[in-house]
Amino acid sequence: MNTFDTEMARRLAEIQLAGLRRELRQIDSPQTTRVSSGGRELINFSSNDYLGLANHPRLLAAAHEALERYGAGSGASRLVCGSLAPHHDLEEALASFKGTPASLVFSTGYAAALGTITALAGRGDILVIDKLSHACIVDGARLSGATLRVFAHNDLDDLEKILKWAEPRRGDGNILIITESVFSMDGDHAPLLEIVQLKSKYGAWLMVDEAHGTGVLGPNRRGLSELLGVSDQIEVQMGTLGKALGASGGYICGSRELIDFLVNRARSFIFSTAPVPAAAAAARAGVELVQSAEGARLNRRLWENIETLRHLSSGLAQAPAGAIMPLIIGWELEATRAAGSLREAGLLVPAIRFPTVARGAARLRVTVTAAHQPADLNALAEALHRCGLEKAGPSVVS
Ligand SMILES: *Cc1c(COP(=O)(O)O)cnc(C)c1O
Repeated sequence: MNTFDTEMARRLAEIQLAGLRRELRQIDSPQTTRVSSGGRELINFSSNDYLGLANHPRLLAAAHEALERYGAGSGASRLVCGSLAPHHDLEEALASFKGTPASLVFSTGYAAALGTITALAGRGDILVIDKLSHACIVDGARLSGATLRVFAHNDLDDLEKILKWAEPRRGDGNILIITESVFSMDGDHAPLLEIVQLKSKYGAWLMVDEAHGTGVLGPNRRGLSELLGVSDQIEVQMGTLGKALGASGGYICGSRELIDFLVNRARSFIFSTAPVPAAAAAARAGVELVQSAEGARLNRRLWENIETLRHLSSGLAQAPAGAIMPLIIGWELEATRAAGSLREAGLLVPAIRFPTVARGAARLRVTVTAAHQPADLNALAEALHRCGLEKAGPSVVS
C-alpha cells in the first residue's frame, strides 16, 4: 500500500474500533416494504417513502413520459439552458400545494438547504439553529460565514436567551432561526407556534425544514406548519421530494422575491446541472397524488399503521407518535448488534449512530409507511420482543 492508502486504512480502523464503521449494502429490488439484499428478502422498516409513492404507477408513468419527451439528462444548469418544462410544472405544483406565491427546486434537499442558507446569511448575520438540526442545516450554517448559535433541542427558553443576546448585536445584519418541523432521528415536533412568536418578537426570520412533515401532517398533508396554522409566518419553507413525495430533489417555497433572489444567489442551484426531467415529473405526480383523495387515503393508512405498531410494541409506543419511531439503545456497538439480530429475523431496521446522532445515543430507527401490511407490523413487533428490544434504553440527553 502507498502512504495515502495506509493513512486511509488507519483512519478506517479507528472508525471501526469505535463501532462507527458504515458500509453500503446492495439492494437488488425496488424500495418497497420488501427488499432483497444478499439473496434474502427483508421486510423494510428503513424507508422514508412514508406513503409508498416511490413505486406508485402514477409516478412511474410520469417519469416514463418525461424520459421519452425530454430525454435522460437535463444538459445544463437551469440558468444556462436546462430549465425544462417539468421543472417549471413541478414548481407551480409545489407552490400551489404549500400555498406560497412561488417555489424553487434543487437537485436534493441537502443542496436546497446549503444553497439557501448561504444565500440568505453571511458575515454580519446571526444564525440560530436547533441542536438536532439535520447535517444540511449545520453545513449550510457553517459555510455561510454567519455567526452561528445553537439552542438546546426544542428549548424555547434557550432560544429566547440567544435571541435576547443576538438582538443588540445584529447591527445591520439579520437573524435567521432554522429548525426541522419533524425531527429526522427522534420523530418529535418543533414547537413552531412558539418559535413563530419568538421570531416576531425579536424581528428574526424563520426557515423550517419539513423533510419529514410533508405528506404526513396537516389536513392537506402540507406539513407541521399547516397543522399548526403558521405556514404564512414562515419566510422559508424547505423540504425534500425524496421522502413522502416519492421521487428525488429538494425545494424551497416562499415569496416570489425569495425565489427570484435564490435564482440569483443560491450557488448549489446556479452551479449545478438541473435535476433530470424524469425526477421532476415523478415529483410533480407525487405532489399531486398527495393532495388527491388517494393521498388522503394513503395518509390515513399510514396513521393506522403507526397506531397499530404503537399498540403492538411497548418499546415503539415510547417514541413520539409518528412515522419515525426511534428505539434508543445507547452504545454504538450494541445498536449495530441489535440491527444485526433484526436482520437475522428478516427485518431491515437501521442502526443510527454518531455522527448522525450524539455519541452514546445510538438507536434503531424504525420507519413505518402506508404500504406496510398488518403481517409486516406483527413481524416487527414480535422480533423486537424476541430480541429483547422491547424496552427502550436510557434516553440520552445531548
Ligand atoms: C433527508 C433530509 C434532508 C435532505 O434531503 P435530500 O433530498 O435527501 O437531500 C434534509 N433535511 C432533513 C431533516 C432530512 O431528513
